[in-house]
Amino acid sequence: MIPFDEAHSRMLAEIQPIRESVAIPVAEALGRVLSVPVIAPADVPNHANSAMDGYGVRSMDCAGSEPVTLTVIADLPAGDRLTNPLWEGEAVRIMTGAPIPPGCDCVVMQEVVRREGDRVTIPPGRSIGENIRPAGEDIRCATEVLPAGCRLRPAHLGLLTSLGLERVEVVRRPVVALLSTGNEVMEPGTPLLPGQVYDSNRTSLRGALTALGMEILDLGVVRDDRERIAALLRQAGEEADAVITTGGVSVGDHDLVKEVLGGQGEIHFWQVAMKPGKPQAYGRLGRACFFGLPGNPVSGLTVFLLMVRPALLRLTGAADEPPRQLRATFRGRLNKKHNRMDFIRGVAHFDPDGVWVETTGAQGSGILTSLAKANALIVLAEAPVTLQDGDVVTIRLIDYD
Ligand code: AMP
Ligand code: MG
Repeated sequence: MIPFDEAHSRMLAEIQPIRESVAIPVAEALGRVLSVPVIAPADVPNHANSAMDGYGVRSMDCAGSEPVTLTVIADLPAGDRLTNPLWEGEAVRIMTGAPIPPGCDCVVMQEVVRREGDRVTIPPGRSIGENIRPAGEDIRCATEVLPAGCRLRPAHLGLLTSLGLERVEVVRRPVVALLSTGNEVMEPGTPLLPGQVYDSNRTSLRGALTALGMEILDLGVVRDDRERIAALLRQAGEEADAVITTGGVSVGDHDLVKEVLGGQGEIHFWQVAMKPGKPQAYGRLGRACFFGLPGNPVSGLTVFLLMVRPALLRLTGAADEPPRQLRATFRGRLNKKHNRMDFIRGVAHFDPDGVWVETTGAQGSGILTSLAKANALIVLAEAPVTLQDGDVVTIRLIDYD
């Protein structure tokens, strides 16, 4: 058996990021990965502006220890601007976001002044720059705003738009072929005969791939038939950037993915020292990278989360994102007897005074409810261990996107 960490790093080391990029509208770029850094073409904000609704003044007019009364010469809503300067004794009514007129170096919030007709009385104690957002406060022209490899989140889209950018260069979306295998695996819509199961892997994995922004090439479900499997895998290896199969990589008589690809030499069949998901296969298939996941629904999706998701992110050129792990107090009882790393499905509770975690119950690799209820995996090292109430464990948050 190969230790989990070794399998993980050996598999990841083989992944070559996609180099092709496309220019797409910023508004459609959620989840996409920047192929080049974004350099600011302008300052944001483009002009010093007011951070408050209030009165723009010259701080030198208000320098004394007594209140001063100034004349309000203009009204400046956001979007308007005043080109002539403020002279001694003058103030402007100014709204949040309106550009600071020449001569003005201080905005006094409206809550502290007294306004009577065109006169406004300003309390003492003003300072230069008060309530003024300088030009370039957010982004300085010509600086790098976002690095290549950045996965675009909602705030990034806003940031790009604040720079006036309409389009952005992103990595082409990877095409991921998905194939379920097994004589017993059926599409929903027909009643099951004894021993048959519905193809839950393909819907789980379609969801996981969609959450990651992959383009899916759905090859459906194939029976345990050498020729059919070989043909579909050949097609997948030609048309996709990555191929994911479930089932057929174990050591059973009908584990034909293993049999068909075993002769290829570029695929490694590993027994990984982890639970769930011991049998796995990785390598290259045509121009695609290949991920052979175990058929058990919990194993397949867990191995996807732990192994395939980081690989697909690397394929998109995204900067590596370390898993989000933290310490939590365990509640319950648990006895781990085996020598594999264990990823127990759990519910983490984020209480104000600390994080605690409990298991989702029965942990069989066919018990998909154990994963459906979970928001975290309790990570237990290879050695056997007994856990009881109050023990501190490491948990890893389940991140699909
Ligand atoms: P295998 O890895 O092919 O030996 O399958 C292991 C177990 O997972 C068997 O009980 C299969 O019935 C089940 N299984 C395989 N593929 C799927 C699938 N696509 N959806 C649900 N269960 C599956
Ligand atoms: Mg099978």
